[in-house]
Amino acid sequence: MSAPSSPLTVAIVGAGPSGFFAADALLKARDDVRVDLFDRLPTPFGLVRYGVAPDHAKIKAVTRTFEATLRDSRVRFFGNVDVGRDVTVDELRARAHAVVLSVGASSDRSLGIEGEDLAGSLSATEFVAWYNGHPEYADLAPDLSGRHAVVVGVGNVAVDVARVLAKSVDELRGTDVADHALEALAESRIETVTMLGRRGPAQAKWTTKELRELGALANADLEVDPADLDLDPASQRAVEADAAQGRNLAFLREAAATPPAGKPRTLRLRFLASPTRLLGRDGHVHQMIVGRNRLEDRDGYLAAVATGEEETLGADLVLRSVGYRGVPLPGVPFDAKRGVIPSDGDQVTHEDGTPVSGVYVCGWIGRGPSGVIGTNKPDAVHTVEALLGDPHLPEPDDPSDAAIPALLDARGVRWFDADAWHALDAVERAAGEAAGRPRVKVTSREAMLDAADGARLDA
Ligand code: NAP
Repeated sequence: MSAPSSPLTVAIVGAGPSGFFAADALLKARDDVRVDLFDRLPTPFGLVRYGVAPDHAKIKAVTRTFEATLRDSRVRFFGNVDVGRDVTVDELRARAHAVVLSVGASSDRSLGIEGEDLAGSLSATEFVAWYNGHPEYADLAPDLSGRHAVVVGVGNVAVDVARVLAKSVDELRGTDVADHALEALAESRIETVTMLGRRGPAQAKWTTKELRELGALANADLEVDPADLDLDPASQRAVEADAAQGRNLAFLREAAATPPAGKPRTLRLRFLASPTRLLGRDGHVHQMIVGRNRLEDRDGYLAAVATGEEETLGADLVLRSVGYRGVPLPGVPFDAKRGVIPSDGDQVTHEDGTPVSGVYVCGWIGRGPSGVIGTNKPDAVHTVEALLGDPHLPEPDDPSDAAIPALLDARGVRWFDADAWHALDAVERAAGEAAGRPRVKVTSREAMLDAADGARLDA
């Protein structure tokens, strides 16, 4: 097989962390490469911009590395291009030697319980996108007028949304939280935020640093029932074998022994508790029926099993935070059960396990929604190594620099290049500087396009 024509051209679909890590790995591995990064939104950085909590500015610092990638002359950014709708993956395959899919997991898992669709019952995914100014969720308008919020799940996303609900608005003012969220949170009447873990404290998915933050909130007392921390022998063994879980449990014991300081809000952690039904009043969630669980060892996995005991909790806002889920990309195989694009770990595979020529995958859409941002780096590097070692990369019909812009222009797609993003970025930062914040996010797609146009005209 002859070597691919030069430069090697790669289209990366999804300009979140995984897409940027893949782009960076390509640039480091080869000089003669052209990387085209596509995103559905006008803005790059995916979950770093729209998923990481606004009060976790340090985690967002990774965008500095991504910016360097974006400024490399071998990289082009095509924002506001919905691959699968504006252009197909096959159309990209005809214009690039390889396509890397790094579209993340944009949907969420549901609980499958009665009342889940009542007003006031939302997914954490939506709530997070709303407070982070994602243009498709700017109008979510979660109702914060009740006293009791319940967050289902004890992973890091649950910790994020519980913390944002428990903080005072003054603690969020200096962040890049969306203006609409700042206004709504300023009016919030939430007094208690209850987090529900279906299994025990030893099985919670949060990481130590994130858990500890919950004990240092200026506006909320952390409440843990010491009885919830009496472990069964299997959980005890699990904690002894896992240093991080040991630290988490020690922290929870300390929290359980600390009397409340009378702060305005209470953040309550509950374990072995599952929502079984949501009850509404006038179409809005009002209460949650919570079932008590016990743990049952199933081949080493400690599963939550209902005991039949139930209680009623006040629940004016319910946020389910039980995991993200990938959605299908038109024209690409999809494993609906796992919510991922099937692959051999790097290259996309058909249902029969045979590889899809020149199409690769990395990040959450390939392996599922797990790990922190940095986890995606080795994953993307591995995918790029496989791509670069692929002896069967197909030769595209037209890999010329003009081919993709011509296709988008012919379709009337108003695509956003890196200059447009930098113009929007400057507008957001300037507004932020005036307000003593890192940036003030523009939260509508039209306003983003207009802001970039306006800034470029002024330049
Ligand atoms: P996660 O870590 O997988 O946690 C999901 C939680 O939902 C678990 O507690 C799980 O309990 C629970 N759950 C699942 N199905 C449930 C059901 N039917 N009823 C009740 N509970 C249920 O997922 P995540 O919180 O969405 O986070 C996704 C990834 O992003 C994680 O790797 C996380 O660490 C990362 N992240 C990191 C940060 C950070 O570094 N600051 C911030 C946000 C997210 P079981 O264990 O019983 O299944």
